[in-house]
Amino acid sequence: MGKPTGFIEYVRELPSEISPLERIRNWDEFHQPMPEEKLRTQAARCMDCGTPFCHTGTLINGMASGCPINNLIPEWNDLVYRGLWQEALARLLKTNNFPEFTGRVCPAPCEGSCVLGIHNPPVTIKNIEYSIIDKAWEEGWLTPEPPAKRTGKKVAIIGSGPAGLSAAAQLNKAGHWVTVYERADRPGGLLMYGIPNMKLDKEKVVIRRLKLLEAEGVTFVCNTEVGKDLPVEQLFKEYDAIILCIGATKPRDLAIEGRQLKGIHLAMDFLTANTKAILDGNQNSNFISAEGKDVVIIGGGDTGTDCVGTCIRHGCKSVVQIEILPKPPLTRAPDNPWPEWPKVYKMDYGQEEAAAKFGADPRIYLTTATKFEGDENGNVKAVHTVEVQWEKNDKGQFIPKHIPGTEKVIPAQLVLLAMGFLGPEQPLLDALGVERDARSNVKAEYGKYATSIPGVFAAGDCRRGQSLVVWAINEGRGAARECDLYLMGSTDLP
Ligand SMILES: Cc1cc2nc3c(=O)[nH]c(=O)nc-3n(C[C@H](O)[C@H](O)[C@H](O)COP(=O)(O)OP(=O)(O)OC[C@H]3O[C@@H](n4cnc5c(N)ncnc54)[C@H](O)[C@@H]3O)c2cc1C
Ligand code: SF4
Repeated sequence: MGKPTGFIEYVRELPSEISPLERIRNWDEFHQPMPEEKLRTQAARCMDCGTPFCHTGTLINGMASGCPINNLIPEWNDLVYRGLWQEALARLLKTNNFPEFTGRVCPAPCEGSCVLGIHNPPVTIKNIEYSIIDKAWEEGWLTPEPPAKRTGKKVAIIGSGPAGLSAAAQLNKAGHWVTVYERADRPGGLLMYGIPNMKLDKEKVVIRRLKLLEAEGVTFVCNTEVGKDLPVEQLFKEYDAIILCIGATKPRDLAIEGRQLKGIHLAMDFLTANTKAILDGNQNSNFISAEGKDVVIIGGGDTGTDCVGTCIRHGCKSVVQIEILPKPPLTRAPDNPWPEWPKVYKMDYGQEEAAAKFGADPRIYLTTATKFEGDENGNVKAVHTVEVQWEKNDKGQFIPKHIPGTEKVIPAQLVLLAMGFLGPEQPLLDALGVERDARSNVKAEYGKYATSIPGVFAAGDCRRGQSLVVWAINEGRGAARECDLYLMGSTDLP
């Protein structure tokens, strides 16, 4: 433990961010690095508890408590406090293949279960993780490390999101030849086309890592949808094992009157086209613009937040985000104690930007859309809404009941549907004939990852449903270990 009294002496401090009104002028990341001295002070706040909850990664009430990849947090906090950055990096890379992704986008369940957080603000774990890996990249400590020996075994990974990438990194390390198939024009899954550039820079962060993986021997084949452009029979012929990492990309739609109107889009179509336009360097081409429009986003979660930030950068006229659930409390509710994930009200980056530009948090709670209204040309012009209250039905399930007299009409020339996802797309799974669970996810036990077909494994959102980058990394690593065991009869992978 670095400094026994650090948690008493120092207060929590995060690096400054570029102000909302300034950062909305471009697509650059808005995190600022923190000076090394300050980082060491923050690391000194870690109490090196006898029983650290921050790295447990268990599920309590369906939510992660502690780090799902079991990052060795107290160890690297101590090493950072002592200025031993390369040693801290070595500990970090033992459990996490891509700390530069989690250090930017993880919601940090580790901080929710930090013991210091019981009475004081928790240690800035996520920012310390980010700083270790960013320093490593800056100093040139991350260089290609191809395996010394190849086993001659070949593995196909379908899908190049964080689950596919972490499985590829681990299996390549074990000496297998790994090919990752991706239907999009660029690898990365939702790291590339999903999470926007201002949260996770594509060129500087995602592509940098992809190049390192390539230099270590991983092959990426893009623009190839397995099951359509490449028959599954060919994969079975050419490879010794297959890992499905196809994500849970089937969107939830909203079948209400007026859904067919022009100007109503799925959030992912909007976000993907926007990132593609930025990367292709032709922002004025084929993307859905919010410029000058009143925008209504249906869905108060992270995807909705990304839509808010994107619309504001386009120069929208106004933005409203509709959420059917109640506004969370400002502090933990009695039924949500530490070390559970704290379900409390937060302003994320998109809401901060909307508040700075338009004067208020754009979210309206306990509200649902009932109808889309169009103009004479078939374009959407308004969203009809009503407030709801959650009541138990005779089966004991909570259902949202409309409250008469609370109807409103919100002007909108662009509507984005960000209401979550319904599981993996089914055609490839049908072609493989792999078993599904009741939620249409690929059926494979957590920790084993073996599907109903021998030699075929599944990891990430396609197995557990839409989740988090950190869980996808956890599952990709686990599936790689099980796959290595299947191929070799034993494994050294963690
Ligand atoms: C808009 C948005 C923002 C998010 N923000 C965050 C965040 O800030 N923090 C966080 O932790 N999580 C976030 N998430 C969730 C996170 O991105 C996912 O949980 C994670 O990416 C899942 O990883 P995965 O590898 O399982 O699948 P994905 O990342 O979904 O990757 C699956 C890949 O498989 C490809 N594929 C599918 N079928 C085929 C096929 N037949 N052939 C070839 N390729 C195929 C897809 O094109 C895709 O690229 C966000 C999700 C969305 C939608
Ligand atoms: S990966 Fe997420 S949960 Fe784990 S240490 Fe990093 S921020 Fe915390």
